[in-house]
Amino acid sequence: MIGVLAKTADHAVVAEFFELFKTPWEFYRADRQYSVVLCDGEKIPGLTAKLVLVYGGRETAFDSEKQMGIAARLSNTVLSYQQRRLPIYGDCLTFGSAETPLLQEETRQSAIRHASDGEHNWIRIGYDLFQEIRQLLTRGQPVEFAGIPTLEIHIALLRELILGTGIPLVEIPPVPQAAKFIACLTHDVDHAGIRNHMGDHTMFGFLYRATAGSLINLVRGRTSLKQFATNLSAAFRLPFVYLGLAKDFWFQFEHYQEIENGTPSTFFVIPRKDDPGINSEGRSESMRAAKYDLAEIAPLLRPLHATGHEIGVHGIDAWRDSAKGREERERVAELTGTTETGIRMHWLYFGEQSPVVLENAGFSYDSTVGYNETVGYRAGTTQVFKPLDTVTLLELPMHIMDTSLFYPSYLNLSPIAAAAVIEPMMKNAVQFGGVLTVNWHDRSIAPERLWDKFYIKLLGNLKRNGARFLTAAKTTAWFRMRRSAVFENISWENGMVHIKAVLKSEAGLPGLKIRVHKPHGGTRSKSQSSELESSWTDVAFDAHLETQIAI
Ligand SMILES: [Zn+2]
Repeated sequence: MIGVLAKTADHAVVAEFFELFKTPWEFYRADRQYSVVLCDGEKIPGLTAKLVLVYGGRETAFDSEKQMGIAARLSNTVLSYQQRRLPIYGDCLTFGSAETPLLQEETRQSAIRHASDGEHNWIRIGYDLFQEIRQLLTRGQPVEFAGIPTLEIHIALLRELILGTGIPLVEIPPVPQAAKFIACLTHDVDHAGIRNHMGDHTMFGFLYRATAGSLINLVRGRTSLKQFATNLSAAFRLPFVYLGLAKDFWFQFEHYQEIENGTPSTFFVIPRKDDPGINSEGRSESMRAAKYDLAEIAPLLRPLHATGHEIGVHGIDAWRDSAKGREERERVAELTGTTETGIRMHWLYFGEQSPVVLENAGFSYDSTVGYNETVGYRAGTTQVFKPLDTVTLLELPMHIMDTSLFYPSYLNLSPIAAAAVIEPMMKNAVQFGGVLTVNWHDRSIAPERLWDKFYIKLLGNLKRNGARFLTAAKTTAWFRMRRSAVFENISWENGMVHIKAVLKSEAGLPGLKIRVHKPHGGTRSKSQSSELESSWTDVAFDAHLETQIAI
């Protein structure tokens, strides 16, 4: 059990951190015995724990008492841990000793210092963990560090420090049974057909990109001859689409069903036609308005819902106005017959208050936290989390968006380069678990984008890497189930751990697992740290568990 001694102002962020690192913990009580105490260095608890972890980016009384020897006072710096970069957004201290593998990148000074009296251990970590977590879950990471699952690395480091001191650990990893991670396929429905775009900028943009643009891409080797021909043929068919004589090639719901072949996915639909909404400066951007009428396409969406797909809201004003959000939610529910209550904002409009505004509008989850201009981890996590101010609303972070990868004004990648950008994210999902959320727009598998081949390969790749596919609502429900888990008793005796745990299980969701990590001695070295990942035992955890495991 970890006892956490933190400022009252940090209690919400501490609680959320330990929902993500799901291991037994409680706020520190002086009358309790803990194997590990985690504190911020302001107050140091009495000498009862085997390990005291002191996080803090500023010098504390503890530092002078233990003669920590501060080497540098930094802020907004990058550390490196096991060949991974770990950005620190607040203050950071380094110490005059290089005994551990947590290093400041440029100076190679250690941001960690170890002290021991033989029986008790103190580890001083030179940044404020909860301030870092707060930054990640509220403001998020700048684009520069988008590719780093920073929050997961903080968890991995803390786990490693505990195990490295010879203390075993029990946790419920964010990993479903019989899989490595969850893959959540989503589609923002921005167009739902080209027939609604007669004579507008979208139509002229399409005509240019399908003809001249496609030719330029052919010359540059970005488009195959076959794709070029497909685009040209679509451009010639356009008048016939408007006349109702040819199929609307931007209407792709059936094609998605074919490609996904029974794999559940989530379609976010825009509730109102011709409404651009209002941006953060109080202005309307006419280009943001959808041209399709949900009432017209709703009968075609109903079969999707019936075959295990989910329909969510692609919100316009819900992010800033609860009353409007409620209207948007009710309109989508009424027209599509959906009972789900999730949302992703169109153009990813979002503000600091948005989680609470969306919760008050009756949404159970949001999936807007991601980047337009790049792919990666805006909140630094592969996990569904609860924004600090909400009571029930969860955030399903959005990680990979098609337009971020391929738009000339964003990453502008070739298919090969895009695959190379996604590969480390796939590895992160396998290593850390959690969810990899993909957003492939409704018309992206049609001319002129023709990102269908890439999408099909991505699905294959997710399957090969051990993904379990769930809709957005099921993904958040799975994390909600994990959050409901309670360790009723954990006791260690004679090389055995006795575990008693319960959770509110939900039918139709993959089960959880409880993981028992073996400690790896009282010393840490680089050679040991590479073997860490395999030294655990997993047991299935479906509802009520009472078991003993040898460690
Ligand atoms: Zn959109």
